[in-house]
Amino acid sequence: MIRGNFHTHSTYCDGKSTLEETVLAAIESGMDAVGFSGHAHTTHDSRYCMTVEGTESYRRDIMALKEKYKDKIEIYCGLELDYFSDTDPKDFDYTIGSVHYVVKDGVYHDVDGSEALFDESVQEGWNGDPIGFAVDYFAEVADIIEKTNADIIGHFDLVSKFNENFCRFDENDPRYVAAWMKALDKLIPAGKLFEINTGAISRGYRTEPYPARPILKEIVKRGGKVILTADCHQKDTLEYGFEDAIQYAKECGVTELYTLSGNPIKQVKMKL
Ligand SMILES: [Zn+2]
Ligand SMILES: [Zn+2]
Repeated sequence: MIRGNFHTHSTYCDGKSTLEETVLAAIESGMDAVGFSGHAHTTHDSRYCMTVEGTESYRRDIMALKEKYKDKIEIYCGLELDYFSDTDPKDFDYTIGSVHYVVKDGVYHDVDGSEALFDESVQEGWNGDPIGFAVDYFAEVADIIEKTNADIIGHFDLVSKFNENFCRFDENDPRYVAAWMKALDKLIPAGKLFEINTGAISRGYRTEPYPARPILKEIVKRGGKVILTADCHQKDTLEYGFEDAIQYAKECGVTELYTLSGNPIKQVKMKL
């Protein structure tokens, strides 16, 4: 198996480690590849993303690191594009497409910023109905490839981040299930990679990766492709929970994992 992580943040956005610290940690642990996916700029919210100028130096710094460490590790320069990002991804090796806000009546409602922000979104936009919020979330997710043309679909069911043990809503609710099923109808034929993302585990919100078991099983059943990612925000979580996540994937029927490699970058299939 090729050891890599393609969902990696740095101090250019909301990560804690610099690009080079992260590269050195990846080399140290024997990884084959690291792909950076800085949060692309969103005009309506600058708290977590790269600035427009920062995006340029991010790209330049990664180019320099690619050259400096070319004999030790593959380094890729990507972006995590939000549904509402305004950065042109053409000069980047690959992109992740993610929904972090649901817009209703012109208002941006936060999906994953914090538990309090999630509850506020549900209250203010959906009269306290979290499943109504999730339905509109998945409607945006369904369009993420059309909107961003991303190579990877980021944390497909991020809307369940603060729902461990179904503490906020029942994920078996038919409205919830119908919403993600409908998003899969649109996304599976695109042939892009769905993340198995351990980020919320490393940050203590979940005990299992995105997507939840029923969703991952359905992705497998429909022939969808998956990539294992850490949504890493600091250098010591580059492969956080990967062993358990591989076990989880197997339990959900996954027999092949994908990664990205080459220039131009391409999907590479690996047997599990
Ligand atoms: Zn994200
Ligand atoms: Zn991320």
